[in-house]
Amino acid sequence: MAMVAVMPDRSDRPVLRISHLARMVGPEFRAWYQALERLGGCAGPVMLVGHTLTRDAATSELLHVFRSADLPFGTLMVACRNRRESVCVPCSLLHNGDTFQIIRSGLSGGKGVPASVSRHPRVFATVTAPSFGPVHRVTDNHRASDRCRVRRGELTCPHGNRLWCAAQHSASDPRVGTPLCAECYDYAGAVLWNASFGVLWNQFVKQIGRETAERVGVRRGELPNLVRLSFAKVVEFQRRGSIHAHAAFRFDGPDGPGDDPPVWATVGLLREAITAAGPATRRYLAGPGGERRALALGRQLDVREITGAGTDDRVLSETAVGSYIAKYVTKGDPAGMVLPRRLRHIGQIEAAPLSEHARRLMRTAWELGDVPEYEGLHLQMWANQLGFRGNIATKSRVYSTTYGELREVRAAYRRELAGVVEPKTGVVRESSWEFVGKGLAPDLAEIAEGIAEETVIRKGPRPDWIEFDRSEET
Ligand SMILES: [Zn+2]
Ligand SMILES: [Zn+2]
Ligand SMILES: [Zn+2]
Repeated sequence: MAMVAVMPDRSDRPVLRISHLARMVGPEFRAWYQALERLGGCAGPVMLVGHTLTRDAATSELLHVFRSADLPFGTLMVACRNRRESVCVPCSLLHNGDTFQIIRSGLSGGKGVPASVSRHPRVFATVTAPSFGPVHRVTDNHRASDRCRVRRGELTCPHGNRLWCAAQHSASDPRVGTPLCAECYDYAGAVLWNASFGVLWNQFVKQIGRETAERVGVRRGELPNLVRLSFAKVVEFQRRGSIHAHAAFRFDGPDGPGDDPPVWATVGLLREAITAAGPATRRYLAGPGGERRALALGRQLDVREITGAGTDDRVLSETAVGSYIAKYVTKGDPAGMVLPRRLRHIGQIEAAPLSEHARRLMRTAWELGDVPEYEGLHLQMWANQLGFRGNIATKSRVYSTTYGELREVRAAYRRELAGVVEPKTGVVRESSWEFVGKGLAPDLAEIAEGIAEETVIRKGPRPDWIEFDRSEET
């Protein structure tokens, strides 16, 4: 009897892929599928209806008509551009790539920043919040003797809770970042600090200027004629629900990135000025009943030199800094700490997937939002971010390129691909677009997910998303 060996198919790649579906059905679906593909499989595209007319700036001649009416199903789909991985994986990857480019070009050049910036003094600083009460901390698992909180002085708080903890906590331990006594923990202080961080940061940067001027022996106002300080920073939420910031700082000459700083503007001076500026940064916040709350930076201020290559405890490479920062922008928020969308009412906090500690911080933010003295902090608007308002990633004006510029370059590249020839004299665009909806029905969302799988997640971001150099020539 003849034996037939049947080899099992070891390939786990499906023979029929989601892209085949587009070929099986009609041209309108095919066009829609391609549009969705261009969005990289965005999970929640924005639907727009309207038109953009492109005219020659000099002659007003109509060069190009772009209307949603000519698009599949009569709508233009635009990617959601959400930076959060939990909301949209492909868009967060794109955002991550942009952040990396912004930080990286400010450290080693590119995207319109001269490569000579890599010779400028650069440091990477980490700024933390002060303590709002003892919390459980990650212990060093290389040291068997390392305990969470050593027993010293008072053993219990006024609520009868222990003020020490003999346990060892790994990073995944849910107790990490939670207070030893929730009744003692200064929840209001933590929220108000998050809400005031932007103001504190601005003061910190100004103080670095003052400290630099003092060391150089010039008046603060004269400093910009000698040296310029620029930075790019990202903030992240720590497990205790306080934000902290990572920032790359750079000294330039008075004309910015293309100008070499004077020889006396060294890494040592930059490091010294930042280290001195930390403790000198202080603001007062007026509260109810004439209360005055002092806001300061945490005592832990880590400053490291950024170099072209190599990484040890004292220095960090340009690439490490860029990807480190980009990673935090999309993955920074620890699970159960913040919510991606604004709250409409306090009831949403109870139902949300949050840790008890985060829930209490969020509730505090919402409740303090009713205090007239804190009106300017817009605490209810930002309660989902534990009071922190503003952007996760920010930079000073001259640091490097911007998200807007990167988007514009990308849009121009796509227009070029679409065969739109722009006259030398320039064009004017008249646009009228109306928002008609967001997101995809569940079955269509599955198709988007398939595209995201096939294009972005497996292969990494598409080359035209990250490599802008070709289109920059236009
Ligand atoms: Zn998206
Ligand atoms: Zn502990
Ligand atoms: Zn207590």
